[in-house]
Amino acid sequence: MAPALVEERVRLGLERLRLGRMAEVLSPVCEEASRESVSYLDFLDQLLEAEQTARFERNVEVRTRLARLPYHKTMADFDYSFQPSVDKKQIAELLTLRFIENRENVLLLGPPGVGKSHIAVALAVETIAKGYSVYFVTMQHLIDYLSEGSEPATARMRVLLRPKLLVIDEVGYLPLDRQAANWFFEVVSRRYEKGSIVLTSNKSYGDWATLFPEVALASAILDRLLHHSTTINIRGDSYRLKDKRRAGLVQRLEPAHGS
Ligand code: ADP
Ligand code: MG
Repeated sequence: MAPALVEERVRLGLERLRLGRMAEVLSPVCEEASRESVSYLDFLDQLLEAEQTARFERNVEVRTRLARLPYHKTMADFDYSFQPSVDKKQIAELLTLRFIENRENVLLLGPPGVGKSHIAVALAVETIAKGYSVYFVTMQHLIDYLSEGSEPATARMRVLLRPKLLVIDEVGYLPLDRQAANWFFEVVSRRYEKGSIVLTSNKSYGDWATLFPEVALASAILDRLLHHSTTINIRGDSYRLKDKRRAGLVQRLEPAHGS
């Protein structure tokens, strides 16, 4: 059979087997193989490599969509010199994702605008890039979702338990009523030692008791969250206000410490 016909038949076969990327690159890879007298094995290797890369990229896109990140940022976008209390080495360790493999948690604490959500998103982006599933929620969304979602409660809980990493952003802006606190406790305790949580909060642990209807519940939650965890305490100025502050438009909001 004429080579062009064979090539066409192979391409159709690849498409039927859903090897779309291989079908796309078949022609140029064939041409190069005959020009450079590439071995059969190397030829096949090139085609498979192209298919696998395309699939991995597609999976990253799908996981990114499912994660519902509020924006896309990485630590390459983070100005460490603006926020010296963020330890670059500690972040580099987290970016190895050993904490994900070990099912440990990361807690980012600090006042508004210091980069807590940015770092949480950057860890989520890295986790997705390494092939894991992520789900991002604010505390408010988590509570609304669990109390009012249309699916049965078990299905909703599964959405929060299944991903390898659950990000819970903005814990502490609102006090929780008993039902909300119980939901939160259930998520934390059911993920405990099973899947990582990255959490951000504007409250220090000492203030967490005020968020919950009972001190005992606050300590039960903290106990599980902190058992295998890294805490990053960010002390510094708001990045959101830095230009305004420089222009003298905003006063420092924090009370003057010690000095
Ligand atoms: P937080 O969650 O602590 O309130 P964010 O992470 O939302 O603060 O940061 C506010 C904005 O400032 C975001 O757009 C974030 O990307 C940016 N930002 C914060 N800190 C830095 C930094 N050190 N370098 C670059 N951008 C930063
Ligand atoms: Mg935030």
